[in-house]
Amino acid sequence: RAKAEGRNDYQFYAGSMGTNAMDSLKLEGALRRALERNEFLLHYQPQVDIRSGAVVGVEALLRWQPQGKEMVSPADFIPIAEETGLIVPIGEWVLATACAQHKAWRDAGLPPIRIGVNLSARQFQRQDLAKRVARLLEEMDCTPDCLALEITESDVMQNPEAAVEILRQLHAMGMHLAIDDFGTGYSSLSYLKRFPIDCLKIDRSFVRDITSDADDAMIVNSVIALAHSMKLSVIAEGVETAQQLDFLSDHGCDQMQGYYFSKPVPADQIAKLLQAVKPETGHVAAA
Ligand code: C2E
Ligand code: MG
Ligand code: MG
Ligand code: MG
Repeated sequence: RAKAEGRNDYQFYAGSMGTNAMDSLKLEGALRRALERNEFLLHYQPQVDIRSGAVVGVEALLRWQPQGKEMVSPADFIPIAEETGLIVPIGEWVLATACAQHKAWRDAGLPPIRIGVNLSARQFQRQDLAKRVARLLEEMDCTPDCLALEITESDVMQNPEAAVEILRQLHAMGMHLAIDDFGTGYSSLSYLKRFPIDCLKIDRSFVRDITSDADDAMIVNSVIALAHSMKLSVIAEGVETAQQLDFLSDHGCDQMQGYYFSKPVPADQIAKLLQAVKPETGHVAAA
């Protein structure tokens, strides 16, 4: 499959390790050593403003490259990292690395764009999350508006009262907050209204059949309307075709992320993409 998808394929890992192929104990041991061995890396996927076509942000996506082995997809190791609590130190590495990348792009004179970072439930449950993030940002010479934190609906709804408090602290710091995979969990609209969030990310399972399935089209339209009525922006995930993009554009969606524009890629490819942007206007320069 990877071969058929072409050379620049960072998404599909031929023969990716699943818990079937490697038992979870072995995987846990390997994950524990992975941080010390520096085997993690981040790829970045552009987030594009649908109206202007400008790259307005990127999402950092974790990759694991064990020495001498195939790259491992987060779907294959994040569940075990969550179970074992290893996701907490791994998540701190992700935050620190995203901040360092932001600074590197700024130092290279590239236009500052926000980096979206996924937070797991385990990280989000810690009462001191806002303090830890604040300290980290300072250490890494970043301001809170460098980051957008992505939290899933089900993670915030596990304990919505505690979530309101933590989100409020992060928001007060100036951090951008997004609800990830929106539509796949259960949200209470009254809580959604109380969460000081900035953005809803529509799960890609709704975007996939948007042009052929009337129910999905209706759901996506409703989410866009709901978000806008709450003064939130909307990002559609998993946009793969021009038809999907046209639909989203016609229905007022703000941003898109998906293979149609770019797969998640290494940082140097994002730098090349941003070099084509004039810092004064933030628009992609004419060739
Ligand atoms: P997510 O946060 O919803 O990230 C979007 C996923 O959709 C990514 O998968 C991305 O590569 C994929 N994607 C983007 N555009 C398209 C498209 O057009 N078509 C298709 N089929 N897929 C697309 P990825 O990188 O495998 O990550 C999977 C999940 O792993 C993420 O879902 C996120 O929940 C989790 N994850 C990734 N990095 C981290 C991390 O640093 N920390 C935590 N806690 N979770 C992470
Ligand atoms: Mg995400
Ligand atoms: Mg996610
Ligand atoms: Mg998502």
